[in-house]
This record gives sequence, C-alpha cells and structure tokens, in this order.
Amino acid sequence: MAEQLNLDSSVRLLAGVGTVRAQALAKMGILTIRDLLWNLPRSYEERGHVRTLTEGADGNKSAFLLTVATQPRTARIRNRMTLTKFKAVDECGETAEVVFFNQAYLDGVFHVGDPVRFWGSLHKERVWTLTSPAYEFAKPGVPLPDYHPVYPLTEGISGKMMEGLVASALTVPIPDPLPENIRLSFHLMSRKLALSAVHCPTNREQLREAVRRLAFEELFFLSLCITRRRAKQVLPKVVPCRPCPIEPFLAALPYTLTPSQLEVIRAIRDDLTGDGTGAPVPVMRRILIGDVGSGKTVCAAAAMYVAAMSGYTSAIMVPTEVLAMQHQRDLAPLFATFGMETACLTGSTPPGERKRILSDLSSPAGSIRILIGTHALLNENLTFARLGLTVTDEQHRFGVHQREGLQEKSPDTHVLVMSATPIPRTLALTLYGDLSVSRIVGLPSGRQKVETFVIDETYRQRLYGFIRRQVLDGGQVYIVCPAITDQESGEVDLDTIVASGRDLPPLQSAVSLYDTLSRTVFPDLRIGLLHGQMKSKEKDAVMRSFENGEISILVSTTVIEVGVNVPNACLMVIENAERFGLAQLHQLRGRVGRGKRKSWCILISDSHSGQADARLRVLTETNDGYEIAERDLTIRGPGDFFRSMGAGDIRQSGGIRFRLAASCDDPQLPASAFRAASRITDDDPDLVQTEHASLRAECARFDATV
Ligand code: ADP
Ligand code: MG
Repeated sequence: MAEQLNLDSSVRLLAGVGTVRAQALAKMGILTIRDLLWNLPRSYEERGHVRTLTEGADGNKSAFLLTVATQPRTARIRNRMTLTKFKAVDECGETAEVVFFNQAYLDGVFHVGDPVRFWGSLHKERVWTLTSPAYEFAKPGVPLPDYHPVYPLTEGISGKMMEGLVASALTVPIPDPLPENIRLSFHLMSRKLALSAVHCPTNREQLREAVRRLAFEELFFLSLCITRRRAKQVLPKVVPCRPCPIEPFLAALPYTLTPSQLEVIRAIRDDLTGDGTGAPVPVMRRILIGDVGSGKTVCAAAAMYVAAMSGYTSAIMVPTEVLAMQHQRDLAPLFATFGMETACLTGSTPPGERKRILSDLSSPAGSIRILIGTHALLNENLTFARLGLTVTDEQHRFGVHQREGLQEKSPDTHVLVMSATPIPRTLALTLYGDLSVSRIVGLPSGRQKVETFVIDETYRQRLYGFIRRQVLDGGQVYIVCPAITDQESGEVDLDTIVASGRDLPPLQSAVSLYDTLSRTVFPDLRIGLLHGQMKSKEKDAVMRSFENGEISILVSTTVIEVGVNVPNACLMVIENAERFGLAQLHQLRGRVGRGKRKSWCILISDSHSGQADARLRVLTETNDGYEIAERDLTIRGPGDFFRSMGAGDIRQSGGIRFRLAASCDDPQLPASAFRAASRITDDDPDLVQTEHASLRAECARFDATV
C-alpha cells in the first residue's frame, strides 16, 4: 500500500491514522507525508551512552546494557492490574529489578541470557529498580543506534505512535530533487537516506552527514529561488529624482558622517537621480547593512531628503512603536529645518490625527514628506499621492517572501531595506542576491570600545567581586545564560550532537544562577530574572525595573530585545559563551557601552577545545560585526548565523525550512549551494529544460514558504 503513496499524500492514508489522529496531527501542522518527514525529532535520547547500574544511581535517565537473569513472572496486584518482574545484571555483576505494569505478554518476550539495552531512570526501592523502561534487544554483530528520536507531540499522539508513523512514511518513495552530478560533486547522501538518518541516526557521523545533505538542500533551493528571481527581474523604470546637492543636508547634522556613510549615501542618490539627464531610472532595490549603532538612520534620512527635494513622500517602517517614536523625535526636527513635514502613524495615533494624515497623504497637494510608522503600515489601506521611497528598518526580522510582499505593494517605488545583522559575504549573496547591497563599515568615531575578556570557572569568585564593585559604583550588570532551567533529561538536541566534536561543558541555567546569586552571593543587591517562559507582563515589569535602575543585576536568557537601551549598564557577563554564535555574542555585547560608563564584556567558558578558544578570541580582537561574522563562518559554519537571524521565523507548514541549515557546521556549504544553483539558473533561468522539471516543482514549493 505504501508504494502507492507519495510525499504529498495525506497522512490519513497511513495505516492507523483515522479522523481523530489526523486532526491531532493537523494541529501540529502535519497534513501530508512530507510534513511528517520534515517534523524532525525535538531531541534524541543518548542511548549509545551506556552506563553501569552504579553510574546510573543518580536517577537520571540513562541507557543500561543488561543481561536478563531470571525468567519474567507476572502477578496480579489489584483488580485488573498485573505486574511483570525479572532481574537483570550489568557487566559489573550488579543487579537491578526490571518492572512493567499491565504488560503480561512480556513474560514471553524476555528470556534468561538475553542482552537488552534499557532506557529509563533507576530508582531505589528494596533493590535498584527500573520501572517501565524502553527496551531494545541487542543482536550480535548489529550495533544498536546511538540515538533514539524524541518528537514534539500533541494530545492524542504518543511518541511510539509518531515513531511508527515516521517509519511508515519512510517507506514511501522519496525522490531526490538534487541532480546526481551535484550530489556527487558535493559528496551528498541521497535525500531518502538523509531523512532516515535524521529520524533514526545510527551514530553521530551519520547524523552530521544527513544534516549536511538536508542543509545543502535548503540553501540550494533558497539560492535557486533568488538567482531565478534575479535573472528574471525586470525593474520598472520611473522618473528620476532631481539631482540636488546633498551638502545642505549634511550641514544640518550635528556631526560629520564617516566616509563609509558618505559612500552609502552617494550610491543611494545615484540610484534615485540616475545619470542626471532625466532619463527614467530603474527603481532602487537596495539593502543597507550596518552594525547596531553604525548610523544607518541618517543614510536613510539622506535618501528621504533627496526624494523630498523632488516632492516625493517617503515612508519608513520599523518593527516597534517605541522605535517609531524615537525616529519621529530624531527626524522631525531635522526635516523641519528644510520646511519638510514629518508624520508618525502607529496603533496609538488618535483617530482625528490619523484621519488628517491619511487625507494629506492621498492628496497631490499634501504636505507630509516623511511618514514614519510600524510595519502595520503595510496592512493599512494607505493611498499615497506621491510615494517615492519606502524604507524598512530591521530587515532581518523579515523572510524573503515578506520582503517581496513589501516590494509588490509598491512596484514603482524605490525600496531601501536596512539590517543590523552583519552577514558574511557568501550568505549575503544567497539571501539578498536580488538586491544591491551597501554596507556601513565601522562605527562613528567617539564610540567607546567595550573591553572584552574570556575567563573560565577558576575566575568566578573574582568575577563576583568585580560585579559587586560595578554595582556599588552605581552601574548595572547583565548576566546571560544559555538555558532557562537545569536539564537532566538525558536528551540532546540536533545542534548539540552535530557540535559535540566540540567540548561542551554543562549548561548554566538562568533560574539556578539567579537562585545562587540572590541567596548566597549577592543577597544584599537587587537582582532580577528574565526568561522566555515568563508571561509577557512579568517580563515587561522586570525589564522596566532594570531600565529605571531598581534592579542592578539582570540574570536572563537571550530574550532581551535588541532594541533595549539601558545606557547605565556597563557590564555584560555571558555564561557558557561557547554555546553562542559569535554574531549573537557581539549583539549581546552591544547592549553595554551605550552611555558614559566604561564598559566590559566578560565571556565565561570552560570549553578548552581549540575551536572554542579561537572563536571567542575573535571577540576580544575586534569590534567589527562583519569581521566577526566572516570569521565565525569559517571557524564554525553557517549554523549560528541561521539561528541568530531567527530561522524560526521562516517557516513552512509542518516544519522550519532553515532548521537544518541552522544546525550545519560546514563552512563551505552556503557558497557551494549558491554556486550549484547559479550554474543551473545561468543556463536555464526558468527551469524549462526537461531535466529541470523536478527542480522547478521543488522550487515552487520552496518559494511559497520563504
Ligand atoms: P543604527 O545603524 O543602529 O540604526 P543609528 O542610525 O540609530 O544606528 O545611529 C546611532 C547613533 O549614532 C544615533 O544617535 C546617531 O545620531 C549617531 N550617529 C550616526 N552617525 C554618526 C556620525 N557619523 N558621527 C556621530 N554620531 C553619529
Ligand atoms: Mg536603527
């Protein structure tokens, strides 16, 4: 029966899936067999890591390789309950009792002398006992897989059931969309093998190769979509802006621009004004990338100035109301010096004011030249009489498709998008290959450099002394942890397995560190705790207390928003720094050094692998976001990048498209995928050649999801 199914068949066609289960699966976004296969394990039980009974006495879930020592016996314990019991010994001769409830048939499953791998937690009753463990029979010569999948589940779907469904899904024909020559030249396993391995990895090496293959696929189809789009792109032409001198604008600024900012502004002005002959120009499609604080806003303002000098209105969109207000505060006075009116439109604009703004914008005689708003602007039915330019701030929060949406809304308008995520060159090509890219290099002069150190556990007491001095001196401190609570599940996630060639010390959790610090280390100081499992009201309250100085030390996970600005914060401490991508560490570091106080960033890491050392050293050596991004890519691959840009925002039904690219540790992969894709689209941009039919189908599916 499975032979007649394909990836697009409904899960309902699988044995054992009726209406109820199908509904439960649908709740998880799983409608088709494809969805089921891309619903990756949330984590894996490390069953290959076998412990002796003595080692397992800590009660944590573990794997035990035991030999059945007594024939199982089943007893009736209460009305309808049965208890099946037998003894089993480990290689050291220690004995445990293995117990199952209501599974009398196990009497005939276990036999004296059978070697069995159990997975469960050992607890002490009269004797050491394993209650209802998972079990696998070891066959001579056939190694048991090292990892066992743990799936995200929902009510009505158990882990066992999910495993069964995935196993049947894996029997469906899984054609490989990658051309064979590409697979061979980049040493990629088949899609089918990769999917089987991701669900039931035999060992770490196999899982890594599977992740590499599936990550390639993600990057390849992303590249293919982008290169196709670029090859087919015909930009509409519009009347150019009048070539106007930019000097009056520069003269109105309270500072001098850096050469890099000037260069960016020149490029934008050329896009808008063309060659000066008045001939129509193709609309601008440009991305401006620059570190946090590098001064992107003023570049956008210059562009809006050029547009306004020709009578055009520009709209600038930002992710939050707070940022919109901030822009309004900064930009309105600047444009007022040229007699240009600025307006701000957000969710909290009073109805009367809103009405006035809308009618002004829609009138050819309107006077508003700069409109600032949140992204909600996109959904409003705004009519612009003279929209010349749209600017989108914090572009990294958008998927490719959303970006496309922005541009489609205003095909005849110049578009400038801005991103604070420094992107390595090879990745920028893939992600933004359909745009012109400008970068601002470096920060405006006069910024303080945040002194950065890497320390290990042996310095912890001294660090606490340093923290105390900062607080007594009136400063504020962030301490960032990689985990919320201590995890003792015996499970590991994909990223950790792929990365486990690196040496990963145990995780410091925010909750337990907060406990220790507030009880024993700094009982006299005001400490706050912030993490993603708190309600947003609680989070807001804590954040506000930190902002207004009621809290001196904030222990948190990485939930603190990029936009958070506490100029009095002077120390950023990061626990388990080896767990974070460098770009992310760099962003975290950017939260201090915003005020007058001398500021520090202290990275704590007990990982003494050469790789971890080399990576963290990069941060002590440079403050430049690009250099950091480039070096991270070469040292560790693109995974961190995709994670930090919020791969989770780019979803497809039933799975996350960049889930695998976010776990990949092969530095060459993005460039390879891009090269492979370009080679195909250079030759056949529309993928019309017969041998590209399956690529075209896959591309269409991908395009709909990014
Ligand atoms: P971002 O690139 O993160 O959006 P902003 O545009 O908000 O950065 O700029 C950060 C701060 O730097 C602003 O207060 C801005 O006025 C200031 N600034 C921008 N360019 C310069 C410069 N060339 N010299 C000094 N200060 C500058
Ligand atoms: Mg900004």
